[in-house]
Parts: sequence; C-alpha cells; structure tokens
Amino acid sequence: MNMADHDAVIIGAGFSGLYQLYKLRELGFDAVILEAGPEVGGTWYWNRYPGARCDIESIEYSYSFDPELEQEWNWSERYAAQPELLAYIRHVSDKYDLRKDIEFQTRVTTLDFDDVACHWTVRTDDGASRTARFVIAATGCLSVPVQPEIEGVDDFGGDTYWTWDWPEEGVDLTDKRVAVVGTGSSGLQTITAIAPDVAHLTVFQRTPVFAIPAFNHEIDEELAEVKSRYPEFRAESRVTRGGAHCADPEAKFFDEYNPDEVVDELSRRWADGGLCYQQSFLDLVLDPSVNKAAADFVADQIRHKVNDPALAEKLIPTTYPIATKRMCVDTGYFEVYNRDNVSLVDLREEPLKGVTPQGIIAGDTAHEFDVLIFATGFDAMTGALQAIDIRHGDLTLRDKWSEGPRTYLGLMSAGFPNLFTITGPQSPSVLSNMLTSIEQHVDWISDLLVVMRERGQRRIEPEVQAETTWVDITNDTADLTLFPQAASWYMGANVPGKRRVFLPFVAGVDVYKQICDGVAVADYHGFEMTA
Ligand code: FAD
Ligand code: NAP
Repeated sequence: MNMADHDAVIIGAGFSGLYQLYKLRELGFDAVILEAGPEVGGTWYWNRYPGARCDIESIEYSYSFDPELEQEWNWSERYAAQPELLAYIRHVSDKYDLRKDIEFQTRVTTLDFDDVACHWTVRTDDGASRTARFVIAATGCLSVPVQPEIEGVDDFGGDTYWTWDWPEEGVDLTDKRVAVVGTGSSGLQTITAIAPDVAHLTVFQRTPVFAIPAFNHEIDEELAEVKSRYPEFRAESRVTRGGAHCADPEAKFFDEYNPDEVVDELSRRWADGGLCYQQSFLDLVLDPSVNKAAADFVADQIRHKVNDPALAEKLIPTTYPIATKRMCVDTGYFEVYNRDNVSLVDLREEPLKGVTPQGIIAGDTAHEFDVLIFATGFDAMTGALQAIDIRHGDLTLRDKWSEGPRTYLGLMSAGFPNLFTITGPQSPSVLSNMLTSIEQHVDWISDLLVVMRERGQRRIEPEVQAETTWVDITNDTADLTLFPQAASWYMGANVPGKRRVFLPFVAGVDVYKQICDGVAVADYHGFEMTA
C-alpha cells in the first residue's frame, strides 16, 4: 500500500521535469512537479536576454518521445531563439496537459528520507510539506547563477540586469551607455544582439573564448528531410559521442591526415559551423599538439574578422586548450568589435576594481554607464542540488559532496535512497545535446521504477563500492584528457571555494548509454533493491 502522498515528486519544470512527468503518468504513477518559477521552461523561461538561442541544432535539441509531436512542430531556424524554444515547451505542456500536475512558485528547500516509512518528506518555501516514495531532481545543471564577487554592485545608480533573469517585458537599451561583464555564451549572444541598438557598448572581458560561427538559417527543406526519417535520425544521435549528428563517421585521428588535409578538415568543420568543430579530430582534447592546431586555426579566423590587429590578439584565447571550456556558437560576435560604438576592456590588463554609482572602475579608469549587464555564469551541475538541504539521518548531501560529487552513473548517490538526478554530475550531461541525455535518463529511471513495482520492491540505493568505482572511472577518464587544464565551470573553477573536480562524464553519450543499459540487463548491477 502506498502510504506516501505521491509515488514521485519531480523538482523542476524544464525539459527534464516535464518529460519525467509525462512518462510517469503514462506508466500509471502518481507524480507532481514542484517548480520554483512561475512558468514551465526552466533554462528557456529564465534566460530571456537579447540574442538567447540554442547552440545545438533545434532539429536535435527537441523531444523525440512522440512522433506526432516531432511531425507537428516546425522549427524556423537551425538554432532557434529563446521565444521559439519557450513556445515549444509551452506547446508540449499544453498538448499533454502537464500543468495540472505542476505547482509553480514552489521552491523545494528540504528533502528528508524516513527509513521506517520508506519515503521522502519534501518541504517547500511556502511552509508546506508532502511525502513521496521517490524524488527525481530535474533541477537543472545551469540553473543557479553565481553572484560575482564584485564590490559595489548594489550601489550602481543606473539599471542592472542579469542574463539569467531578464525582465519578461524586455528592456529598451536604445541610446544607452551599456556595460556587459562576462564573455561566455550568454555574454556573447547578448553583446552581439544589443550592439547595433545602444549608444555605446563596453565589454569587460576576463577570459576570451573560442567561438565558431552558427551560420544560422531557415531550415524548411532540411526539416522536411529529417521529418521523413525522424526515428532513424534520432537513433543515430543516441549512438554518437555528443548525442547529436556531430561525430562524422569518418572522423579520424590527427596523424591520419597529411598537413594539407588537416587544413581542409578544419576548414570544412569551420564552414559547417557550430560545435562540431571540436570533433574535427578524435584526439583533439587528448593531444596538446593536435589541440593547438585546431586552436591556431580559430585564432587566424579571429584575426581575419577583427580589423584592429591589437584588439584581435586580445580576443584570442591563449590560456587554455580549445574545447576545454565550453565553446560558443556565435552570429557575428567578433565582427561587433569593428563597430565604432563598441569597445573592449581587457580585465587581465586592467583588473576590475569595483562598481560605483556611476559605473565600473577597471585599472585606473572610471567608466560611466546607464546600464550594467552581468553574464557571469552558473554554479554548474551541483549548485541546484546543493541548494536543497538533502538529508538521510545524520548524512547530508552537502557534506557528502564537499570534496566533489560522488554518484553511481550520475543517477543516484549512496546513502540517499530513492533519489534520482536527471543529467546529474558524472553523467555526460552538459558535454552532450542535453535533450538526448535527458530522455535517456528519464527512460532509464522510468523503466527501473516499473521493474521495482512489478517486483514489489520499495527501496533502491547504489552500493558504496559501485559508486567508488564510478567516481574513479569519471575522474580517471577526465584526467586522460586536456579538460582539467582549464579553469572552467566544468571543473567548478568559477565558484569561489568549490572543489575542483571534473563534473561530467567525458567518455561520451554512446559509451555511457551502453553502460547504463548493461547495468539494467545485469539486474541493476551495483544497486541494492529491497522490499
Ligand atoms: P532547467 O531547464 O535548468 O530547469 C530546471 C528547473 O528546476 C528550473 O525551472 C528551476 O527553476 C527549477 N528548480 C531548481 N531548483 C529548484 C528547487 N529547489 N525547487 C523547485 N524548483 C527548482 N543545452 C544544450 O544541450 N543545448 C543548448 O543549446 C543549450 N543552451 C543553453 C542556453 C542557456 C542560456 C543555458 C543557461 C543553458 C543551455 N543549455 C543548453 C543547457 C540547458 O540547461 C539544458 O539544455 C536544458 O534546458 C536543461 O533542462 P532541465 O529541465 O534539466 O533544467
Ligand atoms: P560562463 O560561460 O561561465 O561565462 C561567464 C563569464 O563571466 C566568463 O567570461 C567569466 O570569465 C565572466 N566572469 C565571471 N565572474 C566574473 C567577474 N567577477 N569579473 C569578470 N568577469 C567574470 O556563463 P554563461 O555565459 O552564462 O554560459 C554558461 C553555459 O550555459 C555555457 O557554457 C553553455 O553551456 C550554456 N549556454 C549556452 C548558450 C547557447 O549558446 N545555447 C547560451 C548561454 C549559455 P572567466 O571565463 O574568466 O571566468
């Protein structure tokens, strides 16, 4: 008999939570979503800044679970913009009537596991509590912003905006003197979009980025072709390294090309546009000299695009291997610096000293602005989970993960029964097309819950040894690559005090899926299930 209020509480109404709700409902479970925000969409509700769009092609960055949905939705562009992505998520919510089981503006604050009742008590910021046999954290990998440690931010006399919480009604920046702090993907997209409208734009750059052109375009014909074979197309994505049609079946190791062919290959990838550039050679994130060849090619493209040679050099990354920080996909970013109304402050030469009521002081210069925009990133992968007080007896997840996350398959953590994480740390997650990884996790978790129901088993937890092995595998495989050389959010390096460990599983979506499927076939090897 089910003594809990729900079979499952799902936390978060982004792509993950919505599909998990749909799936559990289809399977006859009673599930509810608790969502901190006022609307569905997650990432695509919160990140409404100008120019926001996906960097995985929309044909792939979309659900595959229902052929009818695939056929009825028409993506307008190769990389859809935020309004279109949010419209898609709203359409999905309406089509499957998901909102009736979502409680908005309800933030989960505490999760407490009761061994006797074998359920979680879920407490929320409205003071309410409810119980659930299972909790599924669909809380997002990039959903908790990092507040930059910059003195005086609250003292600024003009308007301050954050890319991760842009006003729904939009912001009129016409004729304003605007500063953007941060040159990751959010900063790049914002800078490119607003440059033509503002009186003057000053970009505060701490670390330059590698950005590959999007060559965004309408995709009517391409979409029709893919729609004619969507099941096959999706199946192909699931057995790639990144969960999308990037991995050219003919991709080779660098040494298999002669020097002319190397240039041809990089030119071909560059001309294709997008993140596939990082898969030019199978050893691009393994071998420093191969990596340098790919980085040098991009550096030359930046020199070609930016008219002022000195400025171009400031925009070229030199302190980390290409692809070891998340690469960006741009639509005219570097060209923005050829405009008269755009200037760059290189914070490596002129450190950011603080914000004043009038603007920003960097080096010895006081810059005056009407508007400040911060695009300073997220406490990635663990931030949203650690923001919740998750406990089982004396054990808390915050304590357990203080030296870095410890999970089995990125799906569960020993000591915390019946708690699953979708695209959690130590799964491919942010290194992949997230939709492929989200669907794989939701399907795997849902299959497991059905098996447990059929067997009358109520409790599942990873064995400590299985978890230790998985943590070692994820760390050891990351150490074989160049990723640990970059001070990236993949490493937790952007959050003061956060332990530096490589957070995602690096060996690929294809390898990972085989492991997860193998674990299930081997009667959920490494998990302990009890009645
Ligand atoms: P989210 O969309 O982050 O949703 C999580 C939800 O959980 C949020 O609504 C949040 O409010 C809620 N939540 C969190 N904690 C709590 C709590 N304690 N209580 C209640 N609710 C809570 N990935 C790609 O693969 N391709 C892309 O092109 C791409 N572009 C991106 C662009 C931006 C600007 C950002 C920030 C990320 C991007 N990502 C991209 C990653 C993106 O986060 C995922 O693709 C995907 O949208 C994640 O969906 P999700 O449901 O797992 O998490
Ligand atoms: P980000 O990549 O972490 O970039 C944050 C930027 O802010 C960096 O340039 C960082 O510099 C700078 N910064 C942080 N604190 C600072 C400080 N105190 N002073 C000066 N500069 C500071 O964050 P993001 O741009 O929001 O992107 C996060 C991830 O979300 C992306 O990598 C991507 O996965 C996803 N995303 C995707 C898209 C898309 O194209 N679809 C768009 C947006 C986001 P340092 O590098 O020196 O730390």
